[in-house]
Order: sequence, then C-alpha cells, then structure tokens
Amino acid sequence: MSRSFETNEGGEFQSPALERLVRSLSRLPGLGRKSATRIALHLIAEEAAAEDLLSAASEAGEKVTNCSNCGAITEPDPCRICSSDRRDPSQLCIVASPVDILPFEKAGFFQGRYFVLGRLLSPLDGVRAGDLPFERLAERIRTDGVKEVIIALDSSVEGETTALYMQQMLEGGSVSMTRLATGIPVGGALAYTDEVTLQRAFMGRRTF
Ligand SMILES: [Zn+2]
Repeated sequence: MSRSFETNEGGEFQSPALERLVRSLSRLPGLGRKSATRIALHLIAEEAAAEDLLSAASEAGEKVTNCSNCGAITEPDPCRICSSDRRDPSQLCIVASPVDILPFEKAGFFQGRYFVLGRLLSPLDGVRAGDLPFERLAERIRTDGVKEVIIALDSSVEGETTALYMQQMLEGGSVSMTRLATGIPVGGALAYTDEVTLQRAFMGRRTF
C-alpha cells in the first residue's frame, strides 16, 4: 500500500488531498467516512469515472433548477407537471420538499399538481410564516382555480403547525382542505413512504 494511504492517530489520511476528498464525500447525505473512503479510492483508481462524475455534477448544477411555479426539481421550467394539460389544476398537493413529490409520481395515482413549501413552520427555530411562500401559494390557488388543497406534510410538530396555519389561511374561502389519512409514520419523512401506504393514505384523506 502506498504511503499516501497511511493515517495518523486520529484516522485521518496523511495525504492532505485524499483526506480532503474523503471529507467532502462524507458530507454527502447517507455517506459515512467508511463509504466515503471506498468511493474516494475508487475515484482515484478510475480516472474516467471521476471525470464523468464531475462533469455530470456540474451539468446538473447548471441545468437542473426548481420549477418557478411549483418548486419541483426540473430541467424545463415550468416543470412537466405544471405544463401538462392532463393534470388537474383544481387539486393542489402541498409538500415540504421537492423529494416528497417523487413517491406520488412513482405511485402514479395523483393527477393534480403540487406546491413545494421548501420548509416547515418552526417558531422555536425562528422559522415563521413570512419565511414560507404562503403569498405565492394564495396567488396560485386563485389563478389556478384550486378547489382542493391536499396537505401531504409529515406528521412532525412542524408539519402539524404548518398545516394548522394553512387551515387558518384558507378558512372562510371556497377551497376545501384535506390531509392524508393516518398511515404515514409519525415524524417519518414522506419521501420514504412506500407507494401502497401512500395511496391508501391519499384515498382515505379527510377534511380538516
Ligand atoms: Zn412545476
């Protein structure tokens, strides 16, 4: 084994370049130091793979953006869901993050459109209503003729607080507000809910 793979007492690589690569990889979600090291060594051994990864990341960073209408991750803007005339604009599904759209689209039962909040209300952490795009949401509800707002936020305290705020926001208007039935684990991220559970929760959705 080459000297550059030697580590100091703290387990850091003697090679500063290798150590830097491992550190930046281990900051990626889901990667611990062990997997980061495996990937780093692979990238060093396979130069073509490293170049491909770099150019793919840089191209995606340039071209992939958030839909200016709904907030989904997309390459054309507006996204395909917002610009499709086969999607029903009267049903608007509210999610916290763009990844929360994925299980819905994968399951394929929902024919409405989405609105991504980007974050959830959390007064204790200083995240207040003014930090969320509620004004844009209200405008979207008006211009799209939304009849049903479906809350698909996870059942954390923040999710509940946000849902409650929206209920007050829509109170007295002609828009009905529903939420997914139980079946989504408490505090569980929506993005990891399986399709069957999600569809069941959607079909059993109830009014506030
Ligand atoms: Zn969109």
